[in-house]
Amino acid sequence: MEKKEKTVAVVLAAGQGKRMHSNVQKQYLLLRDKPVIYYALKTFQDSFIDEIILVVGKGEMDYCRSEIVEKYGFTKVYKMVEGGKERYHSVANGLRAIEEAAYVFIHDGARPFVTEEILKRAYEAVKEDHACVVGMPVKDTIKIVDQKQYAQSTPNRESVWQVQTPQVFTCSLAKEAYEKLLTEEEQLREQGIKITDDAMVVETLLNHPVKLVEGSYENIKITTPEDIVIANALLK
Ligand code: C5P
Repeated sequence: MEKKEKTVAVVLAAGQGKRMHSNVQKQYLLLRDKPVIYYALKTFQDSFIDEIILVVGKGEMDYCRSEIVEKYGFTKVYKMVEGGKERYHSVANGLRAIEEAAYVFIHDGARPFVTEEILKRAYEAVKEDHACVVGMPVKDTIKIVDQKQYAQSTPNRESVWQVQTPQVFTCSLAKEAYEKLLTEEEQLREQGIKITDDAMVVETLLNHPVKLVEGSYENIKITTPEDIVIANALLK
């Protein structure tokens, strides 16, 4: 790879993981003998990424520092910040902690199977397009349903992708989009717009195009209990 500009990863681990129905948050559940969050951090640590900002839940700073960052020697984690109520609040806190960088890779700590190949593909795309997200074409047919759960339409499968992370942006673009989001949060809520990923922030707030980059079908997010079974199978 040619000489590169500074890249920072914002790794999110501040979710409550209510859909997991477990006392332990999903990012700390064990896969083999290591917490879920270990795997993504390990990939970033061993990759071309320069620095990592880890976003953690309220009151989890000390635990994460000693039991994750120090224990596994994640020396690229140079800052830890507290997350917020929604995922986008956590991202905004992570972005505010970046002093200077060309590109930011925003990643769900609950996605343990990100690889350096995926990071490289996203890096090549962001240099060209300034905003890109990793994803894969859907395998199932998708239906848009109405409130009573009747099918309304069936989008062409070739043009429907499921979106993953990392979502990668020029740092200035991401910061601008998220600052705008925080000032317009109330209006968006009134319009019924729910922000569920970073690309949406850039698309909606700045009207900036976002390129889709190939991730992998293994780059799953640990969300519900069966995902732990799948993740253990993928590790084998
Ligand atoms: O809840 P969801 O599955 O969308 O979470 C995706 C990622 O975002 C997880 O890694 C979770 O820890 C993180 N998150 C966060 N702050 C929140 C909500 C989610 O850091 N308020």
